[in-house]
Amino acid sequence: MIMRKKIWPRTLSDFLSMTFIVTIVPLIYWFELWVVLPAVYGFGSLPYTLNFLLGNFIMLNIVGNFTYVVFCDTSTRRDIMPISAANTKNGWRLCASCETLAPPRSWHCPICNICILKRDHHCIFTGCCIGHYNHRYFVMFLFYLFVATTYGFCFNNVFIWSRIHFEFPMSIIKIVFPLAIFVFGFDGSIDQFYLMLYIVSTVGMLYTGILCIYHFRLILNGSVANESNKNIHIYNLGSKQNIKEVLGERWYLTWILPYITSQLPHNGIIWDTLNSWQCSNPKSK
Ligand SMILES: [Zn+2]
Ligand SMILES: [Zn+2]
Repeated sequence: MIMRKKIWPRTLSDFLSMTFIVTIVPLIYWFELWVVLPAVYGFGSLPYTLNFLLGNFIMLNIVGNFTYVVFCDTSTRRDIMPISAANTKNGWRLCASCETLAPPRSWHCPICNICILKRDHHCIFTGCCIGHYNHRYFVMFLFYLFVATTYGFCFNNVFIWSRIHFEFPMSIIKIVFPLAIFVFGFDGSIDQFYLMLYIVSTVGMLYTGILCIYHFRLILNGSVANESNKNIHIYNLGSKQNIKEVLGERWYLTWILPYITSQLPHNGIIWDTLNSWQCSNPKSK
């Protein structure tokens, strides 16, 4: 992996979103594995140990994939552009901001201030662009956030509703506006803090669930967010090949850990369209 040199967020919204993620993820990890789980199963029991190990496996994937997204350089800066291959008919263009030729499927990011190979979008939660080389880690990060929050949701319901005494209308206010505890003040009970984590985790489950559906549909269609807005479908090589284009040749192993290598079929510069790919892979027709 080629490392990105400047990883610090460039805008206030990137900074605040990244700070939120690097704060809330460890907080919810602590809440689920060190508060909820022992309360549900009893510290040291066999179900506790099994769920504890599974929780740590999920957390390792969240942290690992997040780190890879942030550190991976997926910009046009990482490789020397093969200028001899540049042809506007194939989608090459001159980027006025970078003052260089940029390959097909790359787009200039005004925040990162560089062209990004097969740019999907600029992610405020990781403070960087999602492109050809970190797309795999981004979707796995998203997937494991969804798995973690859904998994936690099952336990949280058992835990939280056995502790919270429902009072109308204060309980409704605190549930709908978890930050209201800062307005109405803590009543001295840690349950209010647990309730806030429960709400944030549940909202996170819904949010990451919607994002997972959106991004996995794009991947299956061989597209990225930028292209779907512009109705570009020429890179749709069939669902199996489309998955390989993002997760690599060993796509079936990438869910295990981000450290498992999986070679991408394209270099992010020269791309196959459906026609050229079918010519070089006749069996795919
Ligand atoms: Zn550019
Ligand atoms: Zn960007």
